[in-house]
Amino acid sequence: MNLSTTDRSLSGYGWNDGWASKFSLFAGTDLRPGRVTRVDRGLCDVFLDDDGSGAPGTVRADLRPVRISDPAEWVCTGDWVGVDLTTAPLPSVAAVLPRTTAIVRSTAGKRSEGQVLAANVDTVMIAVSLAADPDLGRIERFVALAWESGAEPLVVLTKSDLVGDADFVKDDVEGVAPGVTVLAVSAETGEGIDVLRACLGTTSALIGQSGAGKSTLTNALSSSESMVVQATRSVDEKGRHTTTTREMIPLPGGGVVIDTPGLRGAGLFGGEGLAVAFAEIEELAADCRFHDCRHAGEPGCAVRAALEEGTLPVRRWESYQKLQKENLWIASRTDARLAAERLKKWKTITKSVRANGSPKK
Ligand code: GDP
Ligand code: ZN
Repeated sequence: MNLSTTDRSLSGYGWNDGWASKFSLFAGTDLRPGRVTRVDRGLCDVFLDDDGSGAPGTVRADLRPVRISDPAEWVCTGDWVGVDLTTAPLPSVAAVLPRTTAIVRSTAGKRSEGQVLAANVDTVMIAVSLAADPDLGRIERFVALAWESGAEPLVVLTKSDLVGDADFVKDDVEGVAPGVTVLAVSAETGEGIDVLRACLGTTSALIGQSGAGKSTLTNALSSSESMVVQATRSVDEKGRHTTTTREMIPLPGGGVVIDTPGLRGAGLFGGEGLAVAFAEIEELAADCRFHDCRHAGEPGCAVRAALEEGTLPVRRWESYQKLQKENLWIASRTDARLAAERLKKWKTITKSVRANGSPKK
């Protein structure tokens, strides 16, 4: 692959034989394959090999034909879709290919309750700035969110030019992200950018706190010369500085990075991810004498034993408990919302009973 140019064709966006074979279902129809690069207000941007002009390009398309009630199934950035260019006034999305992975902002550990933030992501880059003390709890949460999505997490320690030695932080982070690659990079000097590029799957997504260096990193990855970092800011027609609104950025050598506002704020997740992110605790728990051990002083508790021996760091255990509690809280909050809705309905009925002597249908 040629690293000096960005492939502006559907294959540059990740189209391959696998997707083509899934799409063969629509052979003989007018539908054209495309990838959703952005979604807003019932419409989306789709990149196509032929946008109708005979050349690759992005069209604005209507999502109404594929609108369904479950938010987890709503079309999102990263989806592969079938586009009908013949509808008016806008082309429309008429089919969505089944997803391989989905980053879900889960509200209750139930997939159907969650909103999908990005689809078909292979690598989730978790950006962590070396310029501040890393928030290990937050990193754990992002790692769990990534595992939960089905993608592979990768922690990127940014701004390495600002610290003398990133190894201390790297050790700490590796301690809270077992089995996850941790890389130090600098968009400023280009250090580590090529290594990072080589670690990325076809589609990567960026998550991390504001200021962690995500936009700058996206720019560094997408510029053909990794040593050159372009300014992220541009000036719009009113003279205001704006950051780029592109949410799916093609990379030199193929593949894309997804950097959406929704992902930036993501932090909550459902259930499975926690088990993977804290796999060593789940393994310990399997060795407890009682299979419903609460690790609260029961005899034969392997978790307590590991804490006493120091093989399981107390901080790690506390973090696990905190995230577990948070999961429960999210679930109960959703239940509370449902309860409030029931209460409201009940009040309406009671009111109408008082007014009319019979419940209004
Ligand atoms: P975002 O909010 O995560 O998108 O963060 P930005 O990409 O906007 O970066 C936040 C700040 O960190 C900006 O002032 C950047 O110039 C700075 N920054 C980003 N990457 C680097 C880097 O590699 N080295 C240094 N020294 N500063 C960086
Ligand atoms: Zn136990």
